[in-house]
Amino acid sequence: MFFPDEVIEEVRSSNDVVDIVGEYVRLIQKGNSYSGLCPFHNEKTSSFYVNRDKQIYHCFGCGAGGNVVSFIMQIENLSFVEAIKYLAQKSGIKLPEAEISSALREKIKQKELLIQINVEAAKYFYKMLKSSYGKGAKDYLDRRKIDESTSKSFGLGYALNNRNSLSKYIKDKHLDEKLAEKAGLIIKDSSGYHDRFWDRVIFPIFDVHDKVIGFGGRIIDKGEPKYLNSPETDVFNKRLNLYGLNIARKSRKPVLLIVEGYMDVISLHQAGFTNAVASLGTALTREQALLLRRYASECILIYDSDNAGTAAILRAIPILKSVNMTTKVLQVTDAKDPDEYINKFGKDAFEGLLSNAMDYADFQIKTIKSQFNMNKQEDKLKAVKKIIEYANELENELEKQMYMKKISGEFGIDEKVINGQAQIGNINLKPTRKLEPKSEIAEVRIVTKIYEKRERILLSLMINSKDVFDKVIELLGDNIFIVDLHKNIFEKTKNMYYILKNVDVAQFINYFPDLEEQKKVNTIINEIQNFDEKEYEKILNEQLKIIANKIIDFEINDISNKLKTTENDEKKELEVRLTIWLVRKTKIKKIL
Ligand SMILES: [Zn+2]
Repeated sequence: MFFPDEVIEEVRSSNDVVDIVGEYVRLIQKGNSYSGLCPFHNEKTSSFYVNRDKQIYHCFGCGAGGNVVSFIMQIENLSFVEAIKYLAQKSGIKLPEAEISSALREKIKQKELLIQINVEAAKYFYKMLKSSYGKGAKDYLDRRKIDESTSKSFGLGYALNNRNSLSKYIKDKHLDEKLAEKAGLIIKDSSGYHDRFWDRVIFPIFDVHDKVIGFGGRIIDKGEPKYLNSPETDVFNKRLNLYGLNIARKSRKPVLLIVEGYMDVISLHQAGFTNAVASLGTALTREQALLLRRYASECILIYDSDNAGTAAILRAIPILKSVNMTTKVLQVTDAKDPDEYINKFGKDAFEGLLSNAMDYADFQIKTIKSQFNMNKQEDKLKAVKKIIEYANELENELEKQMYMKKISGEFGIDEKVINGQAQIGNINLKPTRKLEPKSEIAEVRIVTKIYEKRERILLSLMINSKDVFDKVIELLGDNIFIVDLHKNIFEKTKNMYYILKNVDVAQFINYFPDLEEQKKVNTIINEIQNFDEKEYEKILNEQLKIIANKIIDFEINDISNKLKTTENDEKKELEVRLTIWLVRKTKIKKIL
């Protein structure tokens, strides 16, 4: 690890988890436990809990959880080391690597300054829209039926028809010109600084935390390019952000609407569809899909019904499916876009369209069918092959099978024949299940999901109480767990008990620098929260009985097998071990 354990522990313990989480989530106190709406998934009732005593948090909805370091890693999208630095900074702890720390401090400061200058610019553009200079832009927004309050809530503005207006404003206000250049607001040439945006309606772009990270500008009359965005900066990364998500995520609707442009987002929000977002002038990226997945499990792609729109939908589907998003498609007909549709037919009609949005697989099939002549046998085969390729991209086995069935029904071909045809066409059907390498070593022990859960519960009880820990060790020795992670956690628990009487769970989580592992460790720690304390003894005995019998049988079996092929001294040792296990077996039978 990067920092000594004591330093990490100092940083962790000087940042109270309730205080830090409270900066992001509105928490309601109930004794020493706090609850609120989970920031990592979309929910209407709280299943997110923070515990001040234990200094950990846990979401019963999505399984997010860990200590204050995990929380910062997850919510700020930082690595373990970065999160430690971030928290050290917050609590004024000096980290050993002074140079790196100051570099990071500088980076954080730079980002804040970029956002500050963006806010200055946004205010300026907003003021210009309100001024008499902004008449053309206001007329444009009127034509698009964007009302005052919508315009205000999206912070819309206007960049004057003059190459030197913002640059002059920045100079007059003694703002940092270099910084403004870095933020992509002004551009330097031989005659000095000039504005990037001029004579455009300005759309400030916010990140999910409502910070102004960049701008989009739309030309008012004719001209190219129609839309101009801020360049990529230290705070503005198009691949990582979505327009409107800062508002859409607060709608806490289970479905997000993905539309093409800024104006689509704004007009949908105005019509009450506050769950609309748009990618920032790029094709939807996997990073954006992951971000969306944080807030909703379902999305509807609403793109234009022209060829470009269809192509964009076909590109977006596998990306959304790869993050396990339920995906539907809506192509508006009878109108150019959702905006025009709502103006023509009203909100309710649009609501109706949404509820009839097409399943992504149906959309793929429909589109491919329209691209081939279905009356020609050869074309039809090509179409089927293409669709099988789509189905094949799915990671979820069940979904893939359902898709294959759908293809079979759609084209009236037997499923087996479809697979056969696909193989003749040299389509690489991915193996449906990853093949486990066959092993003849006796130690390979495979367990069921239910058994894994038993291990988790047992481990949880052992972390919760040293008495339980000692009792289990006494009964079974210290080769108790089969799952690797559980073995690892067990070893660390043992080390902690060696020094302390209790396992400090928040400190414990830091032994696992990987966020995914932290989450799993936290789940294990919380496993016993599902039970009443009075039941612990009973639960323990239930798990112990099954686990003990399995372990004992494994061991006895292993040793017996080895005994068959071993001679002399080694044999004696094995016999001693066998006796120990047989004694354990008898003892377990008696007490459990
Ligand atoms: Zn959650």
